[in-house]
Amino acid sequence: MRVGIVGGGITGLTVTHALRAQDVTVNTFEAAGRPGGVIRSETVDGMCLEYGPQRIRATPAVRTLIDELGLADTVQEGDPDAPLYVYADGALRTVPRSVKAFLRTDLLSWRAKLRLLREPFVPSGPTDGSAKEYFEAKFGAEAYDRLLGPLFGGIYASDPARMPARHSLQRIISLEHEHGSLLRVALDRLGSNNATPPPITFDGGLETLPTALYNRHAAHVELNTPVLGVTPTATGAWELETSWGSTVVDHVVLTTPATETAELLGELIEAPLERLTYNSLAIVHLETAARLAGFGYQTARSSPLHTRGVTWNTGLFDRDGLVTAFLGGMDEPDVLEWTDARLGSVAATEFETVTGHDANVLAVTRLADRIPAYDESWNVLPFLSLPDGISLATNYTGRLGVPSRIREAIRIAETLAD
Ligand SMILES: Cc1cc2nc3c(=O)[nH]c(=O)nc-3n(C[C@H](O)[C@H](O)[C@H](O)COP(=O)(O)OP(=O)(O)OC[C@H]3O[C@@H](n4cnc5c(N)ncnc54)[C@H](O)[C@@H]3O)c2cc1C
Repeated sequence: MRVGIVGGGITGLTVTHALRAQDVTVNTFEAAGRPGGVIRSETVDGMCLEYGPQRIRATPAVRTLIDELGLADTVQEGDPDAPLYVYADGALRTVPRSVKAFLRTDLLSWRAKLRLLREPFVPSGPTDGSAKEYFEAKFGAEAYDRLLGPLFGGIYASDPARMPARHSLQRIISLEHEHGSLLRVALDRLGSNNATPPPITFDGGLETLPTALYNRHAAHVELNTPVLGVTPTATGAWELETSWGSTVVDHVVLTTPATETAELLGELIEAPLERLTYNSLAIVHLETAARLAGFGYQTARSSPLHTRGVTWNTGLFDRDGLVTAFLGGMDEPDVLEWTDARLGSVAATEFETVTGHDANVLAVTRLADRIPAYDESWNVLPFLSLPDGISLATNYTGRLGVPSRIREAIRIAETLAD
């Protein structure tokens, strides 16, 4: 069995790794000159800047991969109980992660807390509306604006008012149907011994992980080699065309963004994947003398700030003085057209407004169309039917976070090896 893998981001490289472990013959193609896809780290003037994810959760699958690659000594582990904040009504307020913290936090008024506690007795949220409508119906408008909206929307840089619940909340809706109450599920989890895995990075940044995967399997991964076409052969195999020739494989795993997947599969699929929309972000790396402990903050949905969230790399890891601000997303895509000077100045000024501390701008980066929006355009996905011999392992058909990408990659590899 020979498998062709298109894309050398974390998903494609983990599929490669897991298939090689089962002695399956693999040809992996990556269009760019470096492995890692959206995971990109760079050390600038001694500071390790992340241009994609800032941290990943050390789930069992992530730990196993780290051990297999011999990276354990380079892991930096943050405190899983470090506080996370939401900026609301002019102050940073703690996101509660225990019953005691829920009673104490000033993020929600008493009225909102009582409304949220009524959740087990309110009817199921509407699944034909938006994620915002679902959360508001279940937990109340204030809990949506100051807690669920910023945390959930922040993952996708999206506006939950434009994310249909049926696409974006599938897992939450099925948990509600299964257990009757989401609050009960949350309380059961808090009371169980299944601690949330800690956030981690590596001394050299998160890119260490895909780089190590690439180095381990370099003989099977072609960088600078975009796949230009995927065509069936007369014998039921698949031909992957690149600028230097073609490779025939029994099965193809595509890990490419939606537009590239649509181009590669063309008439082989009916669903117009090219219509899936992605959110764009501006990232401003800032340096501050402030001692900040915690994950950082998101801003309330009603916040007038341009900043959607700030990661306190300095508070989680050995990243002295570094914080990373995210601006734009679905709320304000136009920020990508601002000058570097304006983006830097707005990020630094708003950081000072929120935390009371000065910050210097280290770098300004624009990420155009990188985060799947999970908006109305996902209505095309039910029409997706793949020919035999083609699999998708992507963050627009599966979950977004790196641990989920790794888990899905391993699952696909196991199925193929079987
Ligand atoms: C700004 C940002 C912040 C994030 N924050 C977090 C976080 O804090 N924690 C977390 O867990 N997750 C986070 N995520 C999500 C996570 O990083 C991504 O979902 C994950 O890294 C995607 O990996 P992938 O391999 O599936 O896709 P990609 O990284 O997109 O890789 C796809 C690869 O395919 C290649 N390719 C495209 N076309 C072709 C072709 N024709 N031929 C060959 N190769 C091709 C591309 O060059 C690319 O390398 C974040 C994402 C972004 C963008």
